[in-house]
Amino acid sequence: MGKKILVTGGAGFIGSHLCKKLLEQKNEVICADNLFTGRKESVACLMGRPGFHFMQHDVTEPLYLEVDQIYNLACPASPVHYQYDSIKTMKTSVLGALHLLGLAKCNQARILQASTSEVYGNPKAHPQPEGYYGNVNPIGPRACYDEGKRAAEALFFSYHQQHQVEIRILRIFNTYGPYMRPDDGRVVSNFIVQALQNRDITLYGDGLQTRSFCYVSDLVEGMVSLMENGGMELAGPFNIGNPSEITMAELAERIIRLTGSSSKVVHRELPADDPVKRKPDISRIKEAIGWEPKVGLEQGLLETIAYFKKELGL
Ligand code: NAD
Ligand code: UDP
Repeated sequence: MGKKILVTGGAGFIGSHLCKKLLEQKNEVICADNLFTGRKESVACLMGRPGFHFMQHDVTEPLYLEVDQIYNLACPASPVHYQYDSIKTMKTSVLGALHLLGLAKCNQARILQASTSEVYGNPKAHPQPEGYYGNVNPIGPRACYDEGKRAAEALFFSYHQQHQVEIRILRIFNTYGPYMRPDDGRVVSNFIVQALQNRDITLYGDGLQTRSFCYVSDLVEGMVSLMENGGMELAGPFNIGNPSEITMAELAERIIRLTGSSSKVVHRELPADDPVKRKPDISRIKEAIGWEPKVGLEQGLLETIAYFKKELGL
C-alpha cells in the first residue's frame, strides 16, 4: 500500500476523479463527503475496492483520523448550489479549513486546499497572476464562496507559518468533464444537457463574458503532482487551469455544433457580480512542477458530451 489519503468532497465532480486516480496509484483513500452536491453513484465503482473507504461526514464538524495526506475539496462549487445556503457555504470553507488544518498538524500530514479563481472576483488584471489581490464584493451573492475561500487561504498560510504545516494552495479555474451532475447548474453541464435534449440554451447576459475551461484529467494530474513533489517551498498559491479563453456565446455555438443539436440560444438575465473575464496566468505552476494542460476544449467537450449522452439515456 502507498499512503493513507483523506479526500474531503470526494464524492463530488473533481473529488470522484481524484479518488480514482489516488486508488490507481495504490494508495488507501478515505472519501469524506456530506453528499450535499456529491453523489454516492460517482464513487460507486470504487465501493468495495480494497483500500477505498467512504464516510458520510460534514467538514463543519471535527474529524479524527490517522492520515499521511489531505485533499480538502469539500465545498459546493456551482453558484446555484453555493448560494442556496450562503451561511453554510461559508462555514464549510472556514470551519472545514480549521478542522482539516488541525488534523494535518496532528498527523504532520501535507494538506492541499482546493481554492478558486473566484478569489480574484471580477478581475481588473487580465490574465490573472497569483500576485493579483483581486476585486471581490464582500457582501454580494458570491461573497459566501469568494470570501470563504479567501479566509481558508489565510488560515492555510497561518498554519504554514505558525505551525510549519506543509500546505498546497491551488487556485482552480473553471474545470469541466464527466461526472458533473446534469443539474449542477454550471455552464458546461447546462449547455450540454440543454443541447442534447434540443431545449433552449440559456445564455446569461450578452454572452460576451469569458471563461477558460480546463479538462478534469489535466487538473487532477496537476493536483497530485503538486502534492507528490517538493516540500515547504511549494505552498503556493498556484493557479491551475487552461489559459485558452472563450466567450459564453462561442461556447454555446460550439456545443450546439458538436452535439448536432437543433437548440436555439435564448438570453437570460446576467446574475449579479458575474465576472466579465477570466483567464489564468499559469507560469508559476509551470515553472514549479512543469505542469501544463494537454486536453483541448474540443476534445474535452466531446468526452463530456459522450458521458452526458449515457447519463441521460440518449
Ligand atoms: P462539487 O460540488 O461537485 O463537489 C463538492 C463536494 O463537496 C460534493 O461532493 C459535496 O457534497 C461536498 N461537500 C460540500 N459541502 C460539504 C461539507 N460541509 N462537508 C463535506 N462535504 C461537503 O464541486 P467540484 O467542482 O467537484 O469542486 C470541488 C472543489 O474544487 C470545491 O472546493 C470547489 O470550490 C473547488 N473548485 C472547483 C472548480 C471547478 O471549476 N470545478 C473551480 C474552482 C474551485
Ligand atoms: N452561464 C450561462 N448560462 C448558464 C450557466 C452559466 O450563460 O446556463 C454563464 C455565467 O453567467 C458565467 C459563465 O457562464 O458568465 C460561467 O458560469 P458558471 O456558473 O459555470 O461558473 P462561474 O465561472 O461563473 O463560477
